[in-house]
Amino acid sequence: MSSGSLGAALPVLPTPQLATALLHTDDPDHKTHANHSVAPSIQTSTTFRSAPFDSQIATDIRNGAPLNWQDPGIEIYSRYNQDTRGRTEKVLSKLMGAEAITFGSGVAAGHACMQHYAPSVIAIRKGYMGIHAAIAVYRRGRTDLKIIDLDDEYPTLSKTEAEKDGVRRGGLLVWVETPLNPTGEVRDLKRYVQKAHAAGGYIGVDATLAPPPLQDPFKQGADFVMHSATKYMGGHSDLLVGVVAVKSKVEWESLFWYRVATGAVPGNLESYLLLRSLRTITLRVQRQSETAHKLAQWLYSLTVDAAHPSEDVEDKELVGGKVVEWVWHGSLQPRNDKDPSARPTEGADFDPRDQMPGGFSACFSIRFASAGQAAKVPHSTEYFTPATSLGGVESLLEHRILSQASEDPRLVRISVGLEDFADLQADLRRAFQANLSA
Ligand SMILES: *Cc1c(COP(=O)(O)O)cnc(C)c1O
Repeated sequence: MSSGSLGAALPVLPTPQLATALLHTDDPDHKTHANHSVAPSIQTSTTFRSAPFDSQIATDIRNGAPLNWQDPGIEIYSRYNQDTRGRTEKVLSKLMGAEAITFGSGVAAGHACMQHYAPSVIAIRKGYMGIHAAIAVYRRGRTDLKIIDLDDEYPTLSKTEAEKDGVRRGGLLVWVETPLNPTGEVRDLKRYVQKAHAAGGYIGVDATLAPPPLQDPFKQGADFVMHSATKYMGGHSDLLVGVVAVKSKVEWESLFWYRVATGAVPGNLESYLLLRSLRTITLRVQRQSETAHKLAQWLYSLTVDAAHPSEDVEDKELVGGKVVEWVWHGSLQPRNDKDPSARPTEGADFDPRDQMPGGFSACFSIRFASAGQAAKVPHSTEYFTPATSLGGVESLLEHRILSQASEDPRLVRISVGLEDFADLQADLRRAFQANLSA
């Protein structure tokens, strides 16, 4: 490749760090075309003019030569491929350190995983309800499908033959969500990976609540990682996309053909919005995680179990669990104090710090002293909006029972955005004081 006017014998640059790669992975042409746009263009076309009939690529296609669908060098029809989506997937692959493919939403990505691994046993416990709904759809007509608990004994299934894409279907799929929605608790991934692999099964991680750089489930041995990119990856509450990252290109292509056949593609515009957002993900997520960590520690200092209750005069009326009764957050694990609701959580022997070297989830939950406080506080704040979803730049509070009828009516999920910590703290403190007797 030409190096412009810089002359020959240039030293080779070191492999770029993640923050650099997220900005310079998807546009190899940027140095070769004059007037080349620096930002990607918004392109909405579903169909594209065919390659000239005598071109090499047209000849190859006519002869049935396989295309590399990750980078086919041609656009045909957007259910197959489209330039912006391809660029977005290149950046996602860098971010996740594996072969990433996008879908129309997180649940579409989850359903794709079910169809792709086609298990006859799924081990799962709690977590995002939409994934349970996707499993219910996968389950239709499969009277033999067993759903077991993560901590049940895993059946060792007789090994089926691998299919053309290298996947052994009809076996065990262990589905671990970590951190766990809605509490943000961290699950001991290594433990489940060992257990799943010892039984000859696959293990996938829904890592939506903590994208890179907070954690990388492949490091603990996950076979695939799934995200609702609607949350932190999109980060601006304005797109629905799901992503699955797998370890081989063959598996990627198998998922690609599933997506072609089901039409579960993200729109061109959503792909564009996601690409824009991925440029800043490390900055956003690190800051959100730091602010959430401080807020969780402060909220914990208001609870009756606090080892060091807040001594701030402004918190005088709030300490001792008068408003905040319980806080769940990765930074509070491992914990020895007892959660009276006995929500399944990892034991006192699991320290999540190694698994989450970049920081803990910016989404976590608290339990109020009363259901009235949980209902009213989200409507008494200035900067937090009462709404579902998470991961956006704006902070949200969700009275969780509004999304899941079975939830404790005192539980509120907090999604921390990019506002200043002191402002968010002051906002919550004021809302707590206004609802002391709610
Ligand atoms: C939101 C979410 C999903 C589903 O994603 P959609 O983009 O809403 O389809 C799956 N898992 C978790 C943990 C989520 O938070």
